[in-house]
Amino acid sequence: MQLEKNKIEELRNLLATPQKIVILSHTNPDGDAIGSSLAWAEILKSEGHDVACIVPNKYPYYLEFMPNCESMVIYKSDEAAAAKAVKAADIIFCLDFHTMSRLDGLSDLIDENQHAKRVLIDHHLDPMEDFDLMLSYPKASSTCYLVALIIEMLYGVERISRDMAENLFVGMMTDTGNFAFSSVTPDVFRVVSILAATGISIPDIHINVYNSFTEGRARLFGYVINRKMKIFHNGTVAHMSLTADELRRFWFQQGDSEGFVNYPLTIKKMKMSAIFTEHSDFIRVSLRSRGDIDVNIFAQRYFHGGGHKNAAGGKSFMSMDETIKFYEQCVKDYAAEGLLK
Ligand code: 5GP
Ligand code: MN
Repeated sequence: MQLEKNKIEELRNLLATPQKIVILSHTNPDGDAIGSSLAWAEILKSEGHDVACIVPNKYPYYLEFMPNCESMVIYKSDEAAAAKAVKAADIIFCLDFHTMSRLDGLSDLIDENQHAKRVLIDHHLDPMEDFDLMLSYPKASSTCYLVALIIEMLYGVERISRDMAENLFVGMMTDTGNFAFSSVTPDVFRVVSILAATGISIPDIHINVYNSFTEGRARLFGYVINRKMKIFHNGTVAHMSLTADELRRFWFQQGDSEGFVNYPLTIKKMKMSAIFTEHSDFIRVSLRSRGDIDVNIFAQRYFHGGGHKNAAGGKSFMSMDETIKFYEQCVKDYAAEGLLK
């Protein structure tokens, strides 16, 4: 992937002298959000900038191994530190999200700082327009991949440390389903080889990300697949749901249901899958699809959300039963328009 040279030069100019920088990523941060933020922060710090990484709420426990993740400011548990950093910022980088609605309460804080330059580095479709500089590449398989390319163009790959490489690798691996999605290109593997050459242990990263869950998570997974997965539309569409009560029964911790939504797609002929997870004031909707079926449009149209063509999400403000009925009707409507072929 070729980034626009003029934009990289604009970025170089912005960073020519030491700046106070805030790096923001989205609510329920995942490996790509955390990895891209931490790697970008590390290179900017090494250039003499004053950098704070902020996320709206905590990252899941199985990402705690990521180098320097304890340095992240969690807005939900430390509003004062977040406010101080945002207020002082000369530049605000927004990584791995495309709309301020993904920042929850943190977006009000950002609005208060009108003097900072806003820079987007992201790979979601249809980003908001009000940035001073937009490095928006929806074809990129992850934001971590973009950050690696930006570091390469600005400073050279020899500046990528082992910690940076580990953080970048996590996001590249998780956002591509282990380098299996159609977004993976030969250049992704070129970047992986640069990261691998820093001495990171790919088996250890894999174990940390995929084999470090709790017993509750394993049992919740068995329960949701066995008892809660409904398959309809001639075996091509699935949904699952988890109520607050069910989550409590399995000692749910944030991030425990990550990846569940992918599982129905392991069934032959399955085209689209959804999971509904009850939170205190809404139901989180997570959607996945295969091939040409576009869940980004589906999420935008029916669930106040968005994302990528084959992985998107949103929210429902109805009850669980109503949400499920609504989803089944939306699937029918979508199919009637020929969008489920
Ligand atoms: P996940 O299902 O893993 O939470 O999210 C899949 C994709 O959908 C992510 O790339 C994420 O950015 C996007 N997404 C998830 N929830 C929302 C949402 O509430 N609003 C928007 N606009 N995108 C979302
Ligand atoms: Mn991402």
